[in-house]
Formats: sequence, structure tokens, C-alpha cells
Amino acid sequence: MTPPAEPDVSPHLRGESSAERQSHGSGQARAEAVVDLAAFRANVRRLAEVAGGAQLMVVVKAAGYGHGMLAVARAARAAGAQWLGVAVLEEALTLRAAGDSGRVLSWLAVPGESSADAIRADVDVTASSARQLGEIVADARALGVRARVQLKVDTGLSRNGCPPADWPDLTAAARLAERAGQVAVTGVWSHLACADEPDHPANDEQQRAFERALHVAARAGLDPEVRHLANSPGTLTRAPAHYDLVRPGLACYGLSPVPDLADPAALGLRPAMTVRTRLAAVRRVAEGTGVSYGHTHVTARATTLGLVPLGYGDGIPVAASNAGQVQVGSDRCPVVGRVCMDQLVVDLGPGSTATAGDEVVLFGPGDRGEPTAQDWARWTGTIAYEVVTRLGGRITRTYTGEDG
Ligand SMILES: *Cc1c(COP(=O)(O)O)cnc(C)c1O
Repeated sequence: MTPPAEPDVSPHLRGESSAERQSHGSGQARAEAVVDLAAFRANVRRLAEVAGGAQLMVVVKAAGYGHGMLAVARAARAAGAQWLGVAVLEEALTLRAAGDSGRVLSWLAVPGESSADAIRADVDVTASSARQLGEIVADARALGVRARVQLKVDTGLSRNGCPPADWPDLTAAARLAERAGQVAVTGVWSHLACADEPDHPANDEQQRAFERALHVAARAGLDPEVRHLANSPGTLTRAPAHYDLVRPGLACYGLSPVPDLADPAALGLRPAMTVRTRLAAVRRVAEGTGVSYGHTHVTARATTLGLVPLGYGDGIPVAASNAGQVQVGSDRCPVVGRVCMDQLVVDLGPGSTATAGDEVVLFGPGDRGEPTAQDWARWTGTIAYEVVTRLGGRITRTYTGEDG
């Protein structure tokens, strides 16, 4: 289908998928991820400001990095995102089914997976090979419409994207299909491998490779609407990589994509998600008490244990066993013993006055003394991306700051 003259920046999203349960504020949820949409919108505006004249694509794949795709998509549009980015076609179709009518780019499909529904829904789809382009052209011809397609070149990530050796053929084939009215090539893009290390030599090498690929595309006669390369760290640390559009994901959720260099506040960002629950039980135990499976922790003194009703079935890593911390009242309490499927145990301390039902904060923005998602990443040997994205469906997503 032909692109509209101007991207629709004020689409309205309706409804909520059943997979994306939402509750509003009674505090009765067993465990909830409270997403501050005002903070999310402020992060998006901050990234738009950093992007300068470049357009902004907010990446909402993987259930909005665990925050709930439709809610963050709506907030991203409200904050001015011209584009939403998703990995797979189902995600794009879920956005359309909820009423989003703005520009959406998807970039991951498998051979034989039909793009017809996405093309019909006016989604920009990605081709990384002549085979993929051929499938998109076949779908577009069958529908009798012009598909919007973006071409992805591999500039050094060695993951998805057309290898440079095949790029002249892909761009020539795309130009032919464009002249035949089967596709409109709306973008040429690539993805950075080491942008979280701004001084890594791969960044400059990738940018040079991207420049070469843009030349090849231009020689083939392509004149795409948008050329783009930068993810969150690229957006925040590499202005020359902004081109016509930036594609931040993590930073929109208020987490630092360069945690060794800057915390969110230093980047003008605020973590949007707080994960909290309540103590399911509290008990006094004697010195020498073995705790949880395998007794990997034995109390060194008489103390008070708190039972937290979250476990690896909810996305709390087993690696947090004897390593994570939570906030109960004003106290930091260590996770003791092994994290189980549905529960974990924390040491509240010998003098604790906590009682069953008290609030437990696993992580949040960090300004009330609670741990952050980045703390959990460090404690469990992973990245903040995984900490938020892996949170499971048993944790209710609750939204604050919806208005404004
Ligand atoms: C996930 C993803 C992004 C966003 O990356 P962040 O590091 O979260 O900003 C951008 N582009 C592509 C192709 C992606 O897969």
C-alpha cells in the first residue's frame, strides 16, 4: 500500500489484549509490576529531544520489554513517537487490532511465514534477503497492493540483515519491484553490535559499512524515506548515527543502555517499572536453620524470615538465590536460599517488626532506597533488558500516570 503523505501521529489505541491483564490500583494484587506511564512518556520525549531532527521509533517488542505492549504503545504515541518498532508480525498485528494506525516496522519473519496480513494492515515489513523480498512481492501481488518494505543490511552484527556481498542484488531487485509498483522501499537500515561501548572500534566500522550500503542503494535508484542505525545506546551516545530516525527500546523504559557509564538519571531518564508484592508469611527461626531447597543457606543467627510469593515461574532468576535483595519498609533484605518456582525467602533480620501483608519492593526507580532493575542485573549476572522482559504473566501489570 502507498505510504500516506504524512505519518499519522495521533492514532488511538483501543482495548487491551487478554494476555495483557491490567488492573487499576486497588493494591489487592498478589504481585504487580506498576508501570509509571508519565515517566515513560517523559523518557520518550527526552529521547525525541536527543534525536534532534531525526524521527523517533519507540521499540515495543516482547510485550513492551515486559511493561505491556499496548499501554506503552499508546503512551509512546501520546509522547510523539512517529513510529513503533516490533520484532515479529504478530506484534504488529496486535497493535493494529488495538487501533494503532501510525507507522509500524517489523523485522523478523521465517521462510514461508506470510506477510500478507501485515501488508494489508499497512505495516512496514523488512527484507534481509532476495528470498524474503520475493515472498513479500508475491504477497503484495496476490493482494493487489503495494507493500511498504524496508531493506536491512548487515554492517557487522552478523545476525539478521543482508550480507554486504548480496546487497547490490537485493537493492537492484527491490528497485525493480518498486518500478513494477509491487513495493515501496520506505527504509534502509542496520543494527549496531557494540553501541553500549561507545569507544568500541566496531561502531565506526559499522557506520562506514552503512555509508557504503547507502551508496549502493542510491546507485540502484532507491530513495528511501528513512535511513536508520541507532538503538538506545546509539541514540544517546552517537549523534552521527542518528540519520533520519532512531530506534530506542530500553531507554524509553527508563533503563540505562550504558550502565557502566551512566545511570538513568544522568541520561535524563527514569525507570518506569516498579515490581512489588507483599509478604505471604513471616516466621521466627533459630540459628542453624536450613532455608529452601538444598539448604544452600543456613541461618547464622536467630532471625526472622519473610516469604515472598514470586519465583522463577514469574521471571525471578534462580541466579538471585543468595544474591538478590528486596526492600521491606526501609530495610534492604537479602534473598536467602534457593529461589523456587513460585516463592523465595528473604532474611528480614532478628529485630524485624515486619508482618505478613507488608509491602515488598523487588525493584523500582531506586529513589526510595529500593533496588533497581540494574541492581538485579548485576546480582544475577544478566542485563537490565532481561530482568524486565522476562517477568511473567502471573505478575499483574498496573498503570499509573495514564492521563496527561
Ligand atoms: C530491540 C531492537 C532495538 C532496540 O534496542 P535497545 O537497545 O533496547 O534500544 C532496535 N532495533 C532493533 C533491530 C532491535 O531488535
